[in-house]
Amino acid sequence: MSEIFDKTNTFSDLGLRSSVLKGVEKMGFEHPTDIQAILIPAVLSGQDVIGQAKTGTGKTAAFGLPLLHQCERDVPMQALILTPTRELAAQICSELDELGEFTPINSTCIIGGMSMRKQQKAVEDGAQIIVGTPGRIMDLYARKQIHFKNLKSVVLDEVDRMLDIGFRDDIRKILGQVKQDHQTIFVSATIDAEIERLARSYMKEDTKKLTTISGSLTVEMVDQKYYTVEAWDKRRLLMHILKHEDPETTVVFCKTKKTVQKIADHLRGRKFDVREIHGDLRQKKRNRVMESMRKGKVQVLVASDLAARGLDVEHITHVINYDLPEDPEIYVHRIGRTARAGRRGFAWSFVTPDQGQLLTSIEILTGAHIEKLEFDEGFEPGPVPKQVVEEREQEEARQRRREQDSVRTGPRSLDGLTDDQLHAMFPGGKIPSGGGKKKSGGRLRTRRRR
Ligand code: ADP
Ligand code: MG
Repeated sequence: MSEIFDKTNTFSDLGLRSSVLKGVEKMGFEHPTDIQAILIPAVLSGQDVIGQAKTGTGKTAAFGLPLLHQCERDVPMQALILTPTRELAAQICSELDELGEFTPINSTCIIGGMSMRKQQKAVEDGAQIIVGTPGRIMDLYARKQIHFKNLKSVVLDEVDRMLDIGFRDDIRKILGQVKQDHQTIFVSATIDAEIERLARSYMKEDTKKLTTISGSLTVEMVDQKYYTVEAWDKRRLLMHILKHEDPETTVVFCKTKKTVQKIADHLRGRKFDVREIHGDLRQKKRNRVMESMRKGKVQVLVASDLAARGLDVEHITHVINYDLPEDPEIYVHRIGRTARAGRRGFAWSFVTPDQGQLLTSIEILTGAHIEKLEFDEGFEPGPVPKQVVEEREQEEARQRRREQDSVRTGPRSLDGLTDDQLHAMFPGGKIPSGGGKKKSGGRLRTRRRR
């Protein structure tokens, strides 16, 4: 429990005004976390900062509390917080509402998939803090329904995601519109050297990077394990775990939306209380899913990486990587949905026999050892499915043919091709007519190939 908290400090030591401290107290926060203890004074001093701290260590309040402290009563749109997903923007907005309950500062959420009119109304009512996703923010900006003239602070939460290729242009456009001097705050659990360099191009020269990360990138309270499992056994293994572990709430991460839907439907058919979330669902449905999750009503959430970042749901005890993420940093964020705010959690990954390298690269990035789990007695790996056997046989046969071909004629045989096909293969060039076999076929080629 003590791992993430700074017990030598209280929030009132950090220089926050009393109306803000009242909100902190109502939330039940006793001590600041380590990142809060260093980031809050830095933000209050007006500096630009990059903050890196593990998942679930209170980065939202670390930038949110000083913003609530700094904002002035009658100036709309003083702070802008950008996030990669609508769900995360909504979550931050409601945390700011709670923390700021005793202040005159209001936040509004500007995200796609929801009524623009309502969002517009909150802006007209003078919300001092805007939290949103880049697309909708740009939309409202282009329609002149919001402006950045009063902005004093800009925050990018999950900054590495915000500056990666998917969002980079939007961020450049948005930040490029903030002409006046302002404070820039970027946070994430994963910030590598390249992202830091890019981040700094938006920040003042003396920007400090404040980090509480030493040792591994993942919190100690998360128990990380993996199973070696064949693709065709994954679904049964998942069922087995859900039945025998009886977790409170589990998030199952899959690679594609299609797999998310398939697994969710399968579990639903087996009478699990399951919900799914991915980018193809309507926002209304996504909101309903998040609402049920927050009420602790859901046994299993099957999710795409839409849910990998930032979401803070108290009851999640288990994360299962049904498919290992190809990007090791995503692993850090996915498993960070459990073991938050000093609680315990379990993160188990399904690793197929050909994914050893990927697992190693995850271990290297996180600096954590992921222990192998053996199947318990109740679970037997199934036989290789017929289709897989056939595919393997076909592949072997193809391989044999390729080898025989290359022994006979070199790596590629031109025999049997029509003139048209030959011209298509060597457009405008010389066709190696008939010479292949004699000059470079047979032994000469095979020797080189060894
Ligand atoms: P991060 O952004 O670092 O992943 P969050 O800001 O989402 O983490 O916070 C994780 C959880 O910890 C939230 O439920 C939040 O309310 C809680 N929390 C934040 N600060 C404290 C604190 N000082 N004491 C107790 N709980 C806290
Ligand atoms: Mg966060």
